[in-house]
Amino acid sequence: MRNDDSPLRPEPGPPAGPARPWFARRSTLVVAAAALAPIFLGGWVLTQILAGAGGDDSRPPRVVLPKGSSAPAPASPSPAAPAKGPLSGRTVVIDPGHNTGNFDHTNEIERQVDIGTNRKECDTTGTTTNAGYMEAEFTMDVSLRARRLLEAQGVKVILTHEVGGRAWGPCIDERARIGNQAKADAVVSVHADGVSAGNRGYHIILPADVRGGAADTGPIVGLSRQLGERIASNFARTTGSAPANYLGSGTGLVVRDDLGGLNLSTRPKVFIECGNMRDAKDAAQLTSPEWRQKAAQGIADGIVGFLGG
Ligand code: ZN
Repeated sequence: MRNDDSPLRPEPGPPAGPARPWFARRSTLVVAAAALAPIFLGGWVLTQILAGAGGDDSRPPRVVLPKGSSAPAPASPSPAAPAKGPLSGRTVVIDPGHNTGNFDHTNEIERQVDIGTNRKECDTTGTTTNAGYMEAEFTMDVSLRARRLLEAQGVKVILTHEVGGRAWGPCIDERARIGNQAKADAVVSVHADGVSAGNRGYHIILPADVRGGAADTGPIVGLSRQLGERIASNFARTTGSAPANYLGSGTGLVVRDDLGGLNLSTRPKVFIECGNMRDAKDAAQLTSPEWRQKAAQGIADGIVGFLGG
Protein backbone atom coordinates (compact mmCIF):
# COMPACT_ATOMS: atom_id res chain seq x y z
CA MET A 1 0.00 0.00 0.00
CA ARG A 2 1.36 3.40 -0.87
CA ASN A 3 -0.87 6.44 -0.55
CA ASP A 4 1.64 9.00 0.74
CA ASP A 5 3.67 11.09 -1.65
CA SER A 6 5.72 12.94 0.99
CA PRO A 7 9.46 13.00 0.33
CA LEU A 8 11.64 10.34 1.88
CA ARG A 9 14.46 12.74 2.81
CA PRO A 10 13.86 14.89 5.90
CA GLU A 11 14.08 18.67 5.46
CA PRO A 12 17.52 20.14 6.29
CA GLY A 13 17.85 21.34 9.88
CA PRO A 14 18.18 25.00 10.96
CA PRO A 15 21.56 26.63 10.23
CA ALA A 16 24.06 26.64 13.10
CA GLY A 17 24.03 29.96 14.94
CA PRO A 18 26.75 31.80 16.94
CA ALA A 19 28.10 30.26 20.17
CA ARG A 20 25.75 30.52 23.16
CA PRO A 21 25.84 29.59 26.83
CA TRP A 22 25.31 25.88 27.56
CA PHE A 23 21.75 26.36 28.79
CA ALA A 24 20.92 28.39 25.71
CA ARG A 25 22.54 25.73 23.47
CA ARG A 26 20.57 23.01 25.25
CA SER A 27 17.39 25.02 24.78
CA THR A 28 18.14 25.36 21.08
CA LEU A 29 18.83 21.62 20.86
CA VAL A 30 15.55 20.78 22.56
CA VAL A 31 13.66 23.09 20.24
CA ALA A 32 15.46 21.68 17.20
CA ALA A 33 14.80 18.10 18.32
CA ALA A 34 11.16 18.93 18.88
CA ALA A 35 10.96 20.49 15.43
CA LEU A 36 12.66 17.56 13.76
CA ALA A 37 10.74 14.84 15.58
CA PRO A 38 7.68 14.90 13.33
CA ILE A 39 9.92 14.78 10.27
CA PHE A 40 11.89 11.79 11.51
CA LEU A 41 8.76 10.14 12.85
CA GLY A 42 7.05 10.71 9.53
CA GLY A 43 10.03 9.23 7.75
CA TRP A 44 9.97 6.20 10.05
CA VAL A 45 6.26 5.62 9.47
CA LEU A 46 6.74 5.95 5.73
CA THR A 47 9.63 3.52 5.82
CA GLN A 48 7.50 1.02 7.72
CA ILE A 49 4.67 1.38 5.21
CA LEU A 50 7.00 0.92 2.28
CA ALA A 51 8.49 -2.13 3.98
CA GLY A 52 5.05 -3.61 4.30
CA ALA A 53 5.03 -3.49 8.09
CA GLY A 54 1.81 -1.52 8.37
CA GLY A 55 -0.86 -3.50 10.15
CA ASP A 56 -3.83 -1.56 8.84
CA ASP A 57 -4.12 -3.17 5.44
CA SER A 58 -6.72 -5.93 5.57
CA ARG A 59 -6.42 -6.84 1.91
CA PRO A 60 -4.78 -10.23 1.25
CA PRO A 61 -1.30 -10.03 -0.20
CA ARG A 62 -1.14 -10.21 -3.95
CA VAL A 63 0.50 -13.51 -4.89
CA VAL A 64 2.71 -13.32 -7.93
CA LEU A 65 3.17 -16.78 -9.41
CA PRO A 66 6.41 -17.63 -11.17
CA LYS A 67 6.16 -17.63 -14.93
CA GLY A 68 4.92 -20.93 -16.28
CA SER A 69 3.37 -22.09 -13.03
CA SER A 70 -0.34 -22.38 -12.48
CA ALA A 71 -2.55 -21.27 -9.69
CA PRO A 72 -3.52 -23.99 -7.23
CA ALA A 73 -6.89 -25.56 -7.69
CA PRO A 74 -9.56 -24.24 -5.35
CA ALA A 75 -10.33 -26.52 -2.43
CA SER A 76 -13.94 -25.43 -2.11
CA PRO A 77 -16.87 -25.33 -4.52
CA SER A 78 -17.13 -22.30 -6.74
CA PRO A 79 -19.75 -19.66 -6.01
CA ALA A 80 -23.21 -20.65 -7.18
CA ALA A 81 -23.50 -17.78 -9.65
CA PRO A 82 -21.23 -18.36 -12.64
CA ALA A 83 -19.51 -15.45 -14.34
CA LYS A 84 -21.10 -13.87 -17.37
CA GLY A 85 -19.53 -15.11 -20.58
CA PRO A 86 -20.20 -16.29 -24.11
CA LEU A 87 -21.53 -19.61 -22.80
CA SER A 88 -23.84 -18.25 -20.11
CA GLY A 89 -26.88 -20.45 -19.79
CA ARG A 90 -25.05 -23.66 -20.75
CA THR A 91 -24.53 -26.45 -18.23
CA VAL A 92 -21.65 -28.91 -18.10
CA VAL A 93 -21.25 -31.79 -15.67
CA ILE A 94 -17.70 -32.90 -14.92
CA ASP A 95 -17.34 -36.26 -13.24
CA PRO A 96 -14.08 -36.73 -11.32
CA GLY A 97 -13.58 -40.49 -11.65
CA HIS A 98 -13.53 -42.56 -8.42
CA ASN A 99 -13.10 -41.02 -4.95
CA THR A 100 -10.04 -41.05 -2.69
CA GLY A 101 -12.30 -42.48 0.04
CA ASN A 102 -13.21 -45.55 -2.04
CA PHE A 103 -10.11 -47.38 -0.74
CA ASP A 104 -11.63 -47.27 2.76
CA HIS A 105 -15.14 -48.28 1.65
CA THR A 106 -14.61 -51.36 -0.45
CA ASN A 107 -17.81 -53.05 0.82
CA GLU A 108 -19.95 -50.09 -0.18
CA ILE A 109 -18.43 -49.64 -3.62
CA GLU A 110 -18.59 -53.35 -4.44
CA ARG A 111 -22.39 -53.28 -4.19
CA GLN A 112 -23.90 -54.12 -7.57
CA VAL A 113 -25.93 -51.49 -9.40
CA ASP A 114 -28.13 -51.74 -12.51
CA ILE A 115 -26.57 -50.21 -15.62
CA GLY A 116 -29.45 -51.15 -17.89
CA THR A 117 -27.60 -53.68 -20.00
CA ASN A 118 -26.00 -55.41 -17.03
CA ARG A 119 -25.16 -55.17 -13.33
CA LYS A 120 -21.85 -53.76 -12.18
CA GLU A 121 -19.96 -52.59 -9.09
CA CYS A 122 -21.18 -49.26 -7.70
CA ASP A 123 -17.69 -47.79 -8.16
CA THR A 124 -14.03 -48.82 -8.11
CA THR A 125 -11.00 -47.50 -6.28
CA GLY A 126 -9.25 -46.45 -9.46
CA THR A 127 -5.56 -46.93 -10.00
CA THR A 128 -2.44 -45.21 -8.62
CA THR A 129 1.03 -44.39 -9.87
CA ASN A 130 3.78 -46.72 -8.67
CA ALA A 131 4.61 -44.03 -6.10
CA GLY A 132 1.03 -44.02 -4.78
CA TYR A 133 -0.49 -40.92 -6.36
CA MET A 134 -4.15 -41.83 -6.63
CA GLU A 135 -6.14 -41.64 -9.83
CA ALA A 136 -8.92 -40.12 -7.70
CA GLU A 137 -6.60 -37.27 -6.66
CA PHE A 138 -5.68 -36.70 -10.28
CA THR A 139 -9.26 -36.71 -11.55
CA MET A 140 -10.44 -34.26 -8.90
CA ASP A 141 -7.55 -31.88 -9.53
CA VAL A 142 -8.08 -31.83 -13.29
CA SER A 143 -11.84 -31.48 -12.83
CA LEU A 144 -11.45 -28.46 -10.56
CA ARG A 145 -9.10 -26.83 -13.02
CA ALA A 146 -11.48 -27.52 -15.92
CA ARG A 147 -14.39 -26.15 -13.93
CA ARG A 148 -12.59 -22.87 -13.35
CA LEU A 149 -11.77 -22.54 -17.04
CA LEU A 150 -15.35 -23.26 -18.09
CA GLU A 151 -16.85 -20.93 -15.51
CA ALA A 152 -14.70 -18.15 -16.95
CA GLN A 153 -16.70 -18.68 -20.17
CA GLY A 154 -19.96 -18.34 -18.26
CA VAL A 155 -20.71 -22.06 -18.17
CA LYS A 156 -22.59 -23.45 -15.18
CA VAL A 157 -20.44 -26.37 -14.03
CA ILE A 158 -21.59 -29.18 -11.74
CA LEU A 159 -19.18 -31.76 -10.36
CA THR A 160 -20.59 -35.18 -9.48
CA HIS A 161 -18.75 -34.92 -6.16
CA GLU A 162 -16.65 -32.36 -4.36
CA VAL A 163 -13.45 -32.46 -2.31
CA GLY A 164 -14.42 -33.75 1.13
CA GLY A 165 -18.05 -33.86 0.04
CA ARG A 166 -18.73 -37.55 0.50
CA ALA A 167 -16.83 -40.46 2.00
CA TRP A 168 -17.04 -42.65 -1.12
CA GLY A 169 -18.65 -42.84 -4.55
CA PRO A 170 -21.01 -41.75 -5.94
CA CYS A 171 -22.02 -44.98 -7.69
CA ILE A 172 -21.76 -45.03 -11.46
CA ASP A 173 -25.54 -44.99 -11.94
CA GLU A 174 -25.81 -41.89 -9.76
CA ARG A 175 -22.95 -40.23 -11.64
CA ALA A 176 -24.97 -40.68 -14.83
CA ARG A 177 -28.15 -39.45 -13.16
CA ILE A 178 -26.48 -36.22 -12.07
CA GLY A 179 -25.78 -35.32 -15.69
CA ASN A 180 -29.27 -36.33 -16.77
CA GLN A 181 -31.05 -34.37 -14.05
CA ALA A 182 -28.94 -31.28 -14.72
CA LYS A 183 -29.96 -31.53 -18.39
CA ALA A 184 -26.28 -31.02 -19.08
CA ASP A 185 -25.24 -29.88 -22.54
CA ALA A 186 -22.11 -32.01 -22.14
CA VAL A 187 -20.77 -34.45 -19.56
CA VAL A 188 -17.13 -35.52 -19.21
CA SER A 189 -15.88 -38.21 -16.86
CA VAL A 190 -12.20 -37.68 -16.05
CA HIS A 191 -9.92 -40.71 -15.54
CA ALA A 192 -6.38 -42.00 -15.95
CA ASP A 193 -5.62 -45.56 -16.95
CA GLY A 194 -3.73 -48.26 -15.04
CA VAL A 195 -2.19 -50.68 -17.55
CA SER A 196 1.32 -52.08 -17.89
CA ALA A 197 4.35 -49.87 -18.47
CA GLY A 198 5.13 -48.99 -22.06
CA ASN A 199 1.46 -48.36 -22.83
CA ARG A 200 1.18 -44.61 -23.17
CA GLY A 201 -1.07 -41.78 -24.27
CA TYR A 202 -4.65 -40.59 -23.88
CA HIS A 203 -7.91 -41.94 -25.20
CA ILE A 204 -11.51 -40.86 -25.21
CA ILE A 205 -14.23 -43.45 -24.54
CA LEU A 206 -17.44 -42.95 -26.53
CA PRO A 207 -20.78 -44.61 -25.76
CA ALA A 208 -21.76 -47.53 -27.96
CA ASP A 209 -25.34 -47.68 -29.22
CA VAL A 210 -26.89 -49.79 -26.47
CA ARG A 211 -30.44 -50.46 -25.41
CA GLY A 212 -31.59 -52.40 -22.36
CA GLY A 213 -33.42 -51.56 -19.15
CA ALA A 214 -32.78 -47.92 -18.34
CA ALA A 215 -30.03 -47.76 -20.96
CA ASP A 216 -30.74 -46.19 -24.34
CA THR A 217 -27.79 -44.34 -25.81
CA GLY A 218 -29.22 -44.06 -29.34
CA PRO A 219 -30.03 -40.34 -28.99
CA ILE A 220 -26.57 -39.43 -27.64
CA VAL A 221 -24.17 -41.54 -29.70
CA GLY A 222 -23.64 -39.00 -32.47
CA LEU A 223 -23.31 -35.94 -30.26
CA SER A 224 -21.06 -37.81 -27.84
CA ARG A 225 -18.70 -38.64 -30.70
CA GLN A 226 -18.58 -34.97 -31.68
CA LEU A 227 -17.81 -34.04 -28.08
CA GLY A 228 -15.14 -36.73 -27.87
CA GLU A 229 -13.43 -35.70 -31.11
CA ARG A 230 -13.34 -32.08 -29.97
CA ILE A 231 -11.77 -33.03 -26.67
CA ALA A 232 -9.28 -35.41 -28.28
CA SER A 233 -7.90 -32.83 -30.69
CA ASN A 234 -7.73 -30.07 -28.08
CA PHE A 235 -6.17 -32.36 -25.48
CA ALA A 236 -3.48 -33.39 -27.97
CA ARG A 237 -2.81 -29.74 -28.77
CA THR A 238 -2.56 -28.44 -25.20
CA THR A 239 -0.65 -31.36 -23.68
CA GLY A 240 1.41 -32.48 -26.68
CA SER A 241 0.44 -36.05 -25.77
CA ALA A 242 -0.09 -38.71 -28.41
CA PRO A 243 -3.20 -40.88 -28.75
CA ALA A 244 -2.93 -44.16 -26.85
CA ASN A 245 -0.50 -46.62 -28.41
CA TYR A 246 -2.30 -49.67 -26.97
CA LEU A 247 -5.90 -49.32 -28.20
CA GLY A 248 -8.00 -47.23 -30.55
CA SER A 249 -5.70 -47.88 -33.54
CA GLY A 250 -3.93 -44.56 -32.97
CA THR A 251 -7.13 -42.46 -33.14
CA GLY A 252 -7.39 -41.79 -29.41
CA LEU A 253 -11.05 -42.83 -29.65
CA VAL A 254 -12.56 -46.04 -28.29
CA VAL A 255 -16.22 -47.15 -28.22
CA ARG A 256 -17.44 -49.18 -25.23
CA ASP A 257 -20.75 -50.71 -24.25
CA ASP A 258 -19.87 -51.82 -20.72
CA LEU A 259 -19.64 -48.54 -18.79
CA GLY A 260 -22.66 -47.67 -16.66
CA GLY A 261 -21.75 -44.00 -16.65
CA LEU A 262 -22.17 -43.94 -20.44
CA ASN A 263 -24.97 -46.49 -20.85
CA LEU A 264 -27.28 -44.64 -18.46
CA SER A 265 -26.55 -41.16 -19.80
CA THR A 266 -29.23 -39.28 -21.71
CA ARG A 267 -26.87 -36.36 -22.32
CA PRO A 268 -23.82 -36.18 -24.65
CA LYS A 269 -21.09 -37.82 -22.61
CA VAL A 270 -17.57 -39.19 -22.90
CA PHE A 271 -14.86 -40.50 -20.63
CA ILE A 272 -11.27 -39.36 -21.02
CA GLU A 273 -8.35 -41.52 -19.92
CA CYS A 274 -5.64 -38.85 -19.73
CA GLY A 275 -2.66 -41.21 -19.62
CA ASN A 276 -1.32 -44.38 -18.04
CA MET A 277 -0.48 -43.97 -14.35
CA ARG A 278 1.57 -47.19 -14.41
CA ASP A 279 3.97 -45.93 -17.06
CA ALA A 280 6.83 -43.86 -15.64
CA LYS A 281 6.86 -41.32 -18.46
CA ASP A 282 3.10 -40.81 -18.41
CA ALA A 283 3.14 -40.75 -14.60
CA ALA A 284 5.71 -37.95 -14.64
CA GLN A 285 3.20 -35.89 -16.61
CA LEU A 286 0.12 -36.88 -14.61
CA THR A 287 1.82 -35.89 -11.34
CA SER A 288 2.86 -32.48 -12.68
CA PRO A 289 0.50 -29.59 -11.78
CA GLU A 290 1.62 -27.72 -14.89
CA TRP A 291 0.73 -30.69 -17.08
CA ARG A 292 -2.62 -31.11 -15.32
CA GLN A 293 -3.43 -27.50 -16.12
CA LYS A 294 -2.71 -28.23 -19.80
CA ALA A 295 -4.91 -31.33 -19.57
CA ALA A 296 -7.75 -29.31 -18.05
CA GLN A 297 -7.30 -26.67 -20.73
CA GLY A 298 -7.60 -29.27 -23.48
CA ILE A 299 -10.73 -30.74 -21.93
CA ALA A 300 -12.29 -27.31 -21.39
CA ASP A 301 -11.39 -26.14 -24.91
CA GLY A 302 -12.92 -29.28 -26.36
CA ILE A 303 -16.14 -28.72 -24.43
CA VAL A 304 -16.25 -25.04 -25.41
CA GLY A 305 -15.75 -25.98 -29.06
CA PHE A 306 -18.51 -28.56 -28.83
CA LEU A 307 -20.86 -25.99 -27.26
CA GLY A 308 -20.05 -23.54 -30.04
CA GLY A 309 -18.28 -21.02 -27.85
ZN1 ZN B 1 -10.74 -44.60 -13.70
